[in-house]
Formats: sequence, C-alpha cells, structure tokens
Amino acid sequence: MSDEITWTLINTEDWGGGLERTYRARGVEHAGCGGDVLLVHLHDEEDALVHAHSHCGECGEDLTP
Ligand SMILES: [Zn+2]
Repeated sequence: MSDEITWTLINTEDWGGGLERTYRARGVEHAGCGGDVLLVHLHDEEDALVHAHSHCGECGEDLTP
C-alpha cells in the first residue's frame, strides 16, 4: 500500500467473528474501469487484523498488491 494514498472508512460490518471494515482510496481509480479502489480489513473479535485485500468497487477485480 502506498503511503501517498488516503483511505477513508466507508463501511463497518460484523461478519460474525469480528468486524469487517471497508476503506475507499481517495482520488484513486481502478485503471481498468474507473471504479473506486476499495480496501477490506477483516478483524477478529479482539479487533486484530486477520486479513486484508483490495479490490475494485465497480468490476470487482482483485487489486491486492
Ligand atoms: Zn474495475
């Protein structure tokens, strides 16, 4: 993840074992379709980060570095 990207929290959801937080990159678009670049963080019940992946909010393409 580039330090130059500002991530804005846009959604928080309980997936059953903790929280799933979705962030949107500010000012960054998916080069393929122009959709929002989203970053999803899965946390466990202790709020520790267990999984992170990035994808396009428009076409769903996996953008995880
Ligand atoms: Zn896309």
